[in-house]
Amino acid sequence: MPQTPWVFASRMDNVRRSFIREILKVTADPSIISFAGGLPQPGLFPAAALAKAAESVIAGSGSESLQYSTTEGDPELRRFIAGRYKLRFGLDVDPDWIIITTGSQQALDLLAKAFLDPGDGVLVERPGYIGAIQLFSLFQAEFASVPLDDDGPDPEALGAALSGPAPKLFYSVPNFQNPSGITWSKARRELAAGLLADSPTILIEDDPYGELRFLGEHQTPLYALRPERTFLLGSFSKVVSPGLRVGWLVADPESRVKLVTAKQASDLHTSTLAQRILVRYLAENDLSAHVESIKSAYRRQRDLMVARIEELFPPEARCTRPEGGMFLWITLPDGVSAYDVFDAAIKEKVAFVPGGPFFVDGTGANTMRLNFSNSDEERIDVGMRRLAACLDKVLSR
Ligand code: PMP
Repeated sequence: MPQTPWVFASRMDNVRRSFIREILKVTADPSIISFAGGLPQPGLFPAAALAKAAESVIAGSGSESLQYSTTEGDPELRRFIAGRYKLRFGLDVDPDWIIITTGSQQALDLLAKAFLDPGDGVLVERPGYIGAIQLFSLFQAEFASVPLDDDGPDPEALGAALSGPAPKLFYSVPNFQNPSGITWSKARRELAAGLLADSPTILIEDDPYGELRFLGEHQTPLYALRPERTFLLGSFSKVVSPGLRVGWLVADPESRVKLVTAKQASDLHTSTLAQRILVRYLAENDLSAHVESIKSAYRRQRDLMVARIEELFPPEARCTRPEGGMFLWITLPDGVSAYDVFDAAIKEKVAFVPGGPFFVDGTGANTMRLNFSNSDEERIDVGMRRLAACLDKVLSR
């Protein structure tokens, strides 16, 4: 083999290609029932209302909506987001603290650009969101991780992680986490806020799923408990459409200047057209009513998935009981490999994501992520029966 002519930057050395993208290639076969992707239910996209909004935005104000616009983002959209924090939590967020980003994934990129030097410590949940792990790897972060139980990060491990040399960043997804579906309880939020009170560690509170709570009570954002050195991220991906690529970041005025500069250098601004379509859509439609319709479908799908697990899965497979969001998480007995289950499952034409890649410490080979948002009830029923049979086979080896 000739030597590659390319000399890549060292930051590419430790970045793994997204394992999930690889799996999605395998599961593109329509005969496979896939619980692998992290996709919303496309039937719930408000396509007709967005088409109407797009038509009127382009026809009525093309010279503005097709033009370049500000890096900070559309003022009306920022006012809408601030209003929603007030409505949902009584939380005061100044629209000027909000930066519209190209999905919340870009908010993570901007934060990493603004704050991370090579070798800086980043604390993540275990398991943690793979898209953030991949991103922070690009910035040559040194990872540490804190395990999650059903109520959030393990208190002792969190105390230990925050009491040594302070990590530069602590990245968290406190509501219906991707991948585990776990939500931090009120007590864990208060504990974390207390531990972080005098700490220089920057907290990233990534909350793309928070609106999708179909059981229990909404929890106060960590941002409200510890506003200083905390960045709150949100997204329209799971409540309107991910294809629009519109998310946001709430930042203090000093950081905002740096983050806006980073965004300018990255993409100038988020699509003017996507933002204007959203503004029009949000003005003409009731987002809360739309979110209710998503929640009722996801709740039925989640209930069916949990019911099939309880009925059909071997009792040693433990599963989380998410109160919202799009994922649930299964832990198999120690020593059982979810990769073996995956191989068996693909033969039976059902797929999920083995949990190992969500762990920065190389553990988690016995875990699995299942998505319940993207399959209707019929496919969930058939898929879970197939998966139960595969698990029986692998566990009885
Ligand atoms: N954070 C988490 C926890 C996610 O699961 C996702 C989407 N998979 C994102 C951020 C990125 O979402 P988007 O860029 O579409 O807002």
